[in-house]
This record gives sequence, C-alpha cells and structure tokens, in this order.
Amino acid sequence: MRVIVDLPKCCGAGQCVMIAPKVFDQQDDGIVILLDEKPPKELHAAVREAANVCPGAAIRLEESE
Ligand code: SF4
Repeated sequence: MRVIVDLPKCCGAGQCVMIAPKVFDQQDDGIVILLDEKPPKELHAAVREAANVCPGAAIRLEESE
C-alpha cells in the first residue's frame, strides 16, 4: 500500500491523525503531514478507515499487495 495525500484538499479536520497517528500528523495550521508513505500491513485497516472518513477526500491509496 502506498499513501498519497492531496494537501490542497486537506481541510485540517484531523480525523486521519486520530485514526492512524503512526501514519498521519498535522502541522500547526492543521494540514496533514504524511509520516509513513508505505505503512506496514498492521496499519492498513486504520489507513483505509482514515481515507474513508477524510472530509476533504484528500487521502488516496494505491493498493499493490
Ligand atoms: S482527515 Fe483528511 S482533511 Fe482531515 S487532516 Fe486528515 S487528510 Fe486532512
């Protein structure tokens, strides 16, 4: 899995950070910081959930495995 964030779409709601704090962080202005572009398998479910709930649809996933 590869995670891509579209920063202009991020509205800084922070849901992704609450759901997958090892993969997403936030700048002071709330905009997302991608911590791990290729998260390990055990985090995939959380990353998918984060992408689903992201209000800006700013998280895109490329599923390779
Ligand atoms: S959930 Fe989406 S809009 Fe909210 S901080 Fe994360 S990437 Fe940005």
